[in-house]
Amino acid sequence: MSGRAQPLIIGAGPAGIRAAEALVEAGLRPLVVDEAPACGGQIYRQRLVPDERSSVALYGSEAPKAERLHRDFAALAGKLDYWPQALLWNLRDGKADIAVGGASRQVAYDGLVLATGATDRVLPIPGWTLPGVFTLGGAQIALKAQGCAIGSRVVFVGSGPLLYLVAWQYMKAGVSVAAVLDTAPFSAKFNLLRGLALEPAVILRGMRMTAELRLKGVALRYGVRDVRIEGEERVGGIAWREDIREMHLACDGVGYGLALRPETQLADLAGCRFRFDARDRAWLPECDAAGRTSVPGVYLAGDGAGIAGADAAELAGERAGLALRQDRGLPHAPERAAAIERSLARIGRFRDVLELAFPFPAHWARDMADETLVCRCEEISAGEIRRAAAHFGTGEINRLKAVSRIGMGRCQGRICGSAAAELLAAETGRSVDAVGRLRSQAPIKPIPLTMALAQPQAEAAE
Ligand SMILES: Cc1cc2nc3c(=O)[nH]c(=O)nc-3n(C[C@H](O)[C@H](O)[C@H](O)COP(=O)(O)OP(=O)(O)OC[C@H]3O[C@@H](n4cnc5c(N)ncnc54)[C@H](O)[C@@H]3O)c2cc1C
Repeated sequence: MSGRAQPLIIGAGPAGIRAAEALVEAGLRPLVVDEAPACGGQIYRQRLVPDERSSVALYGSEAPKAERLHRDFAALAGKLDYWPQALLWNLRDGKADIAVGGASRQVAYDGLVLATGATDRVLPIPGWTLPGVFTLGGAQIALKAQGCAIGSRVVFVGSGPLLYLVAWQYMKAGVSVAAVLDTAPFSAKFNLLRGLALEPAVILRGMRMTAELRLKGVALRYGVRDVRIEGEERVGGIAWREDIREMHLACDGVGYGLALRPETQLADLAGCRFRFDARDRAWLPECDAAGRTSVPGVYLAGDGAGIAGADAAELAGERAGLALRQDRGLPHAPERAAAIERSLARIGRFRDVLELAFPFPAHWARDMADETLVCRCEEISAGEIRRAAAHFGTGEINRLKAVSRIGMGRCQGRICGSAAAELLAAETGRSVDAVGRLRSQAPIKPIPLTMALAQPQAEAAE
């Protein structure tokens, strides 16, 4: 290789792997870093310990895609460097701080692809911190990676396609699923018919899953509100309202989530410009159709740039890789790049449809009881946030953080940040974009203090 440093790719999920492939194809040797022990990202996550489950049992209809992605990444061995179980915790001065093997290493890079994916989005509800309550993604990880269920009689509640998918996966794994409680009214689902023209296979798969849940006797309820998870030491049941009826079910596990939230902290640390995305109700790093951000040499791909799903992530990863190649003056397959952009635009229109079918229950923030815990790291309730906002007269999220400590704990606002913004917006009568964006701070995830304080070992892999 020339004297230039390696391109660095963060994330070995669908987006990161396809970006790596595009770079290797042009003779580059990227360094791929992922905090997970094996490649695949969220959807194609591999089990931690080998067991007897088949690929179809693990990934359902997506098994061929999962196998292909794992296989393609394995085929790149020797042509790239891959650091699993390695956390990129800071970006500064054009270098990346990576916690790996018990030490922090500082890596210089030439071209950075952020393919960091997403995490579950939650709005706190009473009882959400009880043992036995998991996010939908967490419930799926337990099943997929560890082969265990979050309870023996489980209720799934929230919004988004993952709600039905995870319920179906639990049912298929032989767990008793007591109910699926959807926060959207049934009428919202008619929007899915508009998605038939865009992604017929996805819509039909969703319809099949819903029909199988019904056939197995799983109660599907729509338009649920005032959800309360009950129990003393751990989950014992769940209560909610439907129209004017009070409903209740006994259960020992709850999976809860309101769709996904892009992981954008690294783009923030890299200095990328952000814009508010009304569909995702989130501030997202700006990028063009190829994934180029406002910072030259920094690219975004996959759910970390805005939620679009695994197929889009593969395409966006490849597109970002081609953009990096073009910016380096290497061959960059312009026809393929244009075809990818057309596919991504179609998937984007499909995403609009999904948002109408699975809307975010924004009014829940206004209705949140004062005693509901919002920030579990710092133990701050909705009432304390409201009082802090009123006392200090603030309607800005970073100021709220300073006066209330919301978002200062271990999660650094990754879990509570969007809930706090929704709450502040509801409290001050402003739109959620008007309360601003929580600024990211390093380390973006917990690392030992000794690592953060140690003088980094600088290295520039070439
Ligand atoms: C918990 C969860 C479960 C999901 N399940 C499904 C599903 O069953 N079906 C479906 O269609 N979609 C599912 N989705 C959505 C789907 O996973 C995504 O659309 C798709 O995986 C996006 O691919 P990606 O490459 O952008 O990100 P991901 O697949 O999320 O990959 C991102 C990778 O980046 C790594 N990473 C992130 N930050 C860092 C860092 N700082 N340092 C090092 N590594 C880092 C992560 O470990 C991860 O492996 C799920 C999403 C989540 C969050």
